[in-house]
Amino acid sequence: MPDIKQNYLNVLESVKKAAENCGRDPGSVRLIAVSKTKPIEYVVKAAEAGAVDFGENRPQELAAKQAEMPELRWHQIGTLQRNKVRHIVGKCALIHSVDSLALALEINKRAKAAGLVQDVLIQVNITGEETKSGIEPSELEALLNEIKSMDAVNPVGLMTISVAGSTPDENREVFSKLKKLADRFGLKELSMGMTHDYVEAIECGATMVRVGTAIFGARDYGTR
Ligand SMILES: *Cc1c(COP(=O)(O)O)cnc(C)c1O
Repeated sequence: MPDIKQNYLNVLESVKKAAENCGRDPGSVRLIAVSKTKPIEYVVKAAEAGAVDFGENRPQELAAKQAEMPELRWHQIGTLQRNKVRHIVGKCALIHSVDSLALALEINKRAKAAGLVQDVLIQVNITGEETKSGIEPSELEALLNEIKSMDAVNPVGLMTISVAGSTPDENREVFSKLKKLADRFGLKELSMGMTHDYVEAIECGATMVRVGTAIFGARDYGTR
């Protein structure tokens, strides 16, 4: 096992420095430890170091880990299929990846049945990569208006993923565009930045960064 406690503390320190370096309150950026594919022991170590926010991309994995550690705040950060919504409503603090009206309607239905209001982010595909999920920026206004009319879904912000292997300047361009969109629609939360680009994301206004590799080590999908 990597030294998860030390890794978490190092990343947390680096997140705070990045915020201070651009004149932001270090408390205004939430570090989400992305524990997908990693065993619960890894989550325990990070929690011991003080981590409270954890990100997962598979609904069943999120639900299983949440059942073991319900005191933590769980985030669904990956593409979410409609038929998986039932696994996570009521178990996750925030769904980062709403990318269609159909998905939002399903979340609304499930949250209403559970008697709660689910906070969500809308995922926007800023880079225009066809492989990426997320709506086009031009579709945001319409989707947002639909979601605002739902009783049990609360849209609190936007999420995006930059292109792997981009330069810092290219990342800044992507993140600034998301920030502008959020400002235009009065949305407060911005989930952007991963292990390789969270510093630029913080410079551009991220309120949440999603960091996996730098805390838990590389993921090995081959042995799952
Ligand atoms: C896996 C994942 C992350 C974490 O990526 P790292 O490069 O390991 O920090 C962040 N966001 C999303 C949406 C992910 O799927």
